[in-house]
Amino acid sequence: MPKPRKEIEVPKDWQAFGWQGFQVRVPRDWTPASLTGAREEGYVRLDGPDQPRLEIKWATSRGFVDVEKVVSRYLRSLSKGHAGKEVRIDEHPKLRLRMPKERSSVHYFAWHGDQKALGAAWYCRDCGRTMLIQVLGPVGEDLVPLTEQLLSTFEDHPTGNWALWSLYEFSCQVPSHYQLARQELLTGLLRLDFERGREKLAVVRWGMAGMALQGTDLKSWLRQKNQKSWRQFRVDLAPSQVHGHEQALALSGISAAPLAHMGSVALRLVGRKWPNCLRGAAWLCEPTNRIYHVEAVVDPSDEEMVAEVIERIVCHEGAERAHET
Ligand SMILES: [Zn+2]
Ligand SMILES: [Zn+2]
Repeated sequence: MPKPRKEIEVPKDWQAFGWQGFQVRVPRDWTPASLTGAREEGYVRLDGPDQPRLEIKWATSRGFVDVEKVVSRYLRSLSKGHAGKEVRIDEHPKLRLRMPKERSSVHYFAWHGDQKALGAAWYCRDCGRTMLIQVLGPVGEDLVPLTEQLLSTFEDHPTGNWALWSLYEFSCQVPSHYQLARQELLTGLLRLDFERGREKLAVVRWGMAGMALQGTDLKSWLRQKNQKSWRQFRVDLAPSQVHGHEQALALSGISAAPLAHMGSVALRLVGRKWPNCLRGAAWLCEPTNRIYHVEAVVDPSDEEMVAEVIERIVCHEGAERAHET
């Protein structure tokens, strides 16, 4: 993380936004408006109540990256994109930021048109990604303080083995070698599906739990929701306790397909992993009226990892956070 100089303070109520290996703290009322791409390359936009506020673009490259060129190409594309609207490149103001040493060729830029922007781009020698970030605002706004605050909290790659995925007041940590395979971001349902080879890991949050569980219980509800995906497993749901919640279930299952067993025996004989066992948990978080469901299809040797994913979820404020990123 860039070392914020003492005078840069970030409001305590800002929340973490974590996606594809990077993380940044942003004002509470900024929400994702666009989330595209993957870890290697992608684009994210966060909007405030009135307008787009933050854009992040990234791309992986193996060889030398001419960041200056990346920036000038980007600035040129702006004028083209805003057909008829003039975009003027400004001299960028001085920012009180010290970038981490793995970031090379740091370039700042600023422009204005019907809105204004202040941004930075660099190449990270650590994760091999070129990042381009810009903070947007109305023409009259001084973007310097905001940009300094945002950039001072921006980390472009996970610092350890865990990547933070955090959006819409939802926050989980997943081993950084897992890739996001699918996302579902609906009002009452947030689901992130990760994969690594044949291994699968899903983190799901349901809203309006009270209504969902009316006339039923967590166990039957969960079975009904996962009828299809659990078809190939014999799934066992046992009473448990998660993050202090009493309405909780431990999930375990093994593949019901006989061939899967033969495969697992053969591969384990040669010391390879064979993900054929289902592990996870589901719980009702009463204070937030949400249901959480974590589920993984992994080799039995990865059971601990699944337990840690569950442990690292912060489902309600005041829930114990065992691990900080
Ligand atoms: Zn990096
Ligand atoms: Zn909770």
